[in-house]
Amino acid sequence: MTGTRVLVLNSGSSSVKYQLLDMRDSSRLAVGLVERIGEETSRLKHTPLANGGEAREQTGPIADHEAALKAVAEELDKDGLGLGSPELAAIGHRVVHGGRQFTEPTVIDERVLAEIERLIPVAPLHNPANLTGIRTAQALRPDLPQVAVFDTAFHTTMPESAARYAIDVETADEHRIRRYGFHGTSHAYVSRATAKLLGKAPEDVNVIVLHLGNGASASAVRAGRCVDTSMGLTPLEGLVMGTRSGDLDPAVIFHLARVGGLSMDDIDTLLNKKSGLIGLCGDNDMREIRRRVDEGDERARLAFDIYIHRLRKYIGAYYAVLGRVDAIAFTAGVGENAAPVREAAVAGLEGLGLAVDAERNGARSDEPRLISPEGARVAVAVVPTDEELEIATQTYALVGSL
Ligand code: ADP
Repeated sequence: MTGTRVLVLNSGSSSVKYQLLDMRDSSRLAVGLVERIGEETSRLKHTPLANGGEAREQTGPIADHEAALKAVAEELDKDGLGLGSPELAAIGHRVVHGGRQFTEPTVIDERVLAEIERLIPVAPLHNPANLTGIRTAQALRPDLPQVAVFDTAFHTTMPESAARYAIDVETADEHRIRRYGFHGTSHAYVSRATAKLLGKAPEDVNVIVLHLGNGASASAVRAGRCVDTSMGLTPLEGLVMGTRSGDLDPAVIFHLARVGGLSMDDIDTLLNKKSGLIGLCGDNDMREIRRRVDEGDERARLAFDIYIHRLRKYIGAYYAVLGRVDAIAFTAGVGENAAPVREAAVAGLEGLGLAVDAERNGARSDEPRLISPEGARVAVAVVPTDEELEIATQTYALVGSL
């Protein structure tokens, strides 16, 4: 391996997010995204951080992922950072579902592609887009190592007691129904960064990670290994999210079908896209919800309260799963920015050693930081996540060892 740069690609169904990093100092050379692929109003936003940082934007039809990646390659070329550069060591792809078999970042070959394809029935929205991104990148640089970093990998250490649903074992196995968990790259990164913040090795700490973005998940991490997480077969289970319901009685689905007359597709859309905060109050942005709460809006208040109630249940549950908790780490858009969420999540839990210091909690920073009072039994921390850096780091380490 000669180069020191890694391109990270996160290919969604109609978008591609990318970052080019220099792994000598983990600096970002360029970041960007292509949105609304396949529409007339596609948009590419490219920011060449290495060269002055002036963002460039273009709008106009970008037909498919291949066209999107070519457009990105052209933008990178303009800054002398093109995909053809010998400085590029590898491309790291975020792949949402790696099933049980992918427990580590993996160099992509035909067998790996076939496995990712075989997992499409359990990740129908995500894996096809990830595959398209990989194939397109391979076509552009067939000689370059391409690495898949799986959202599920960090959770493959969950014991069977946490990973299995209590349903008929044969039926579950036949359909590969179990709890896989997602956001694993973030949970891995944040749990390690939390240990570092405490001045300890990951093996020496137990951490509850609360990844609260538009999608949201909690995980219980014992000595650096995930032992439970709130998302399951799909990212629908667990916490209340921006547009997803999280946990509910499965019989709600039978009821909606039998009594409500909804189709399976209707119910899927209802629970994934029209539930959670947006279903409860019409907004899924926590900033807007807090603004409405402060104005005395009852629906926003109820949505906030339901969100917090669920979050507190998971904190309590993972406290019991771990037995000893050294730290709770808040991360992602809501976790990093919404002080009222952090405050409400641990309010009244002093008996568990949990508290936030109002001034520390209110202070804004992009750095990992403690928000618990001096001398607290359990550290409460805000730890900004960085999934792209984690993907690049894992990718670079893997190709360096080839
Ligand atoms: P995802 O990657 O899941 O799309 P992010 O981690 O970027 O989501 O989080 C996006 C969410 O973060 C927004 O929907 C919003 O609710 C919340 N958010 C972002 N900034 C703030 C802020 N300053 N205060 C409160 N919430 C915020």
